Parts: sequence; structure tokens; C-alpha cells
Amino acid sequence: MDDKMTITFLGTGTSQGIPVIGSDHPVCLSKDPKDKRLRVSVLVSWKNFNYVIDCGPDFRQQMLTNPIEKLDGILFTHEHADHTAGIDDIRPFFFRQGDIPIYAHERVITSLKRRFDYIFAGENRYPGAPAVQVVQVKKDTPIALGDLEVVPIEAYHNRLQVFGYRFGEFVYLTDVKRVEEDQIKKMKGAKVLVVNALRKEPHHSHFNLEEAIALAQEVGAEKTYFTHISHIMGFHEEVEKELPKNIHLAYDNLQLKI
Ligand SMILES: [Zn+2]
Repeated sequence: MDDKMTITFLGTGTSQGIPVIGSDHPVCLSKDPKDKRLRVSVLVSWKNFNYVIDCGPDFRQQMLTNPIEKLDGILFTHEHADHTAGIDDIRPFFFRQGDIPIYAHERVITSLKRRFDYIFAGENRYPGAPAVQVVQVKKDTPIALGDLEVVPIEAYHNRLQVFGYRFGEFVYLTDVKRVEEDQIKKMKGAKVLVVNALRKEPHHSHFNLEEAIALAQEVGAEKTYFTHISHIMGFHEEVEKELPKNIHLAYDNLQLKI
């Protein structure tokens, strides 16, 4: 068995994905597969464990393209729809495995309970509805996943708190505009950092390219990959050429071994 951790980028797009429905923007019309971006999510696999971070509206398609035999859990960064709207599609895993563990901030759990009440229903459950096992994530408490202790990293999406996660040498953060120094410390020494870079122009709740590069350089991982990318960022191939050494744009279905 492969001892390395495999990271699979299931989606690298911003909330509408690329192409945007009905758009005639040149990036939306691009024939390059690297310019097609589903909603942001990543699969982290090691030994026989598989965890996904976020479960957006493209989850079903992502699991068909990158099939896994079992899903050990879903870690949520925050409650926005592009990160959560696919949760109903855990059903095939639920039918085979039983309740699927989900890991999230208390506020995110409250939001999911309101929006997907049938998943959390205690009685009069609709037969066929999926069920989950809820684990609350707290800023300073590592989470035991498989044989790893995963470290939550707190950041801010404008004023909304979000969680990033560190799995050993791998750090994943998305929908971030601000991170405090004590949380940046948790990322130091990582081999691979993934962080959001929306576009070149500033944005109120996301790092733009320049801010993402600044964080990458401060963390100093061996390699950094950007995700949660808007079509306005430009063509993958062109933006890639403008980036500093060891910093790349991620693209859908890219796999890394760490
Ligand atoms: Zn998002």
C-alpha cells in the first residue's frame, strides 16, 4: 500500500464554477480542461482512509470522476452553499456504510440542521434519507481522523469565521480574507499549502492573487496551490506563467502525493 498521502482536487472554482452558466467570457468558453472548474473541494486519502473537505453542489459529479470505495467523513470549512449544497448526495455512501461523520464548527452544524432538517431528523425519518454523525470542531482541539491528528486552523471570510485543516504535511484553507499570526504558525513546516485566490482585483471576503501570494510566502511551504478561482482570474495557462517559483494554480482532478 502507498504510504504517501494523496490529495485530489475535486473542484477548484469559485461559487458559480467555470464555465458560469450562460457566460460568453473567453475563460468560460476555453477548451482547456484546466479552465473548467467545479465548486471547490478536495479529497485527502492515506492508507485506507478517505476524507473530503466540503461537499458542494458538484459532489456527485466529483465522486463519479474520482471514485472511492468508502468515505470516512466530510470536514466543512463553513456553511456557504458552494461548500455544503451537495450533502444529500452522500446517500450512496450512507447506504453502504451507515451514518457518515461530518466535522464542522457549531454554527455550521446549526445551519446544516436548518437547511437539511430531514438528514438530522430523529423520528419519522423518510426511508432513504441519509444520516450523519456530527462532530463539532473547535479551534484549538485537534481532530482524530484515522491514525492522524488533524489540526483546525481558524481564518476569516470577511467577518465570517471559517476553518482550514492541517493533515500532517498538508494544509488546506479556502474562503479566507484574513488569518491571525497564531494560526499562521500552525501552518509552518507544511510541505504543501492550498489557499484561495479568487482573482487579481481585490475582493471583500476572498484573497486576491497578490494576498494569496503574500500568505504563501509567509508560510513558506515547499509548494503552494491556489484554489477557489474565478473565471475573471484569466486562463490557467497564462496565470500559471506569472506566478512565483513553487506557487501554482490548482486545477480539477490534479493529484499530489505528499
Ligand atoms: Zn466559497
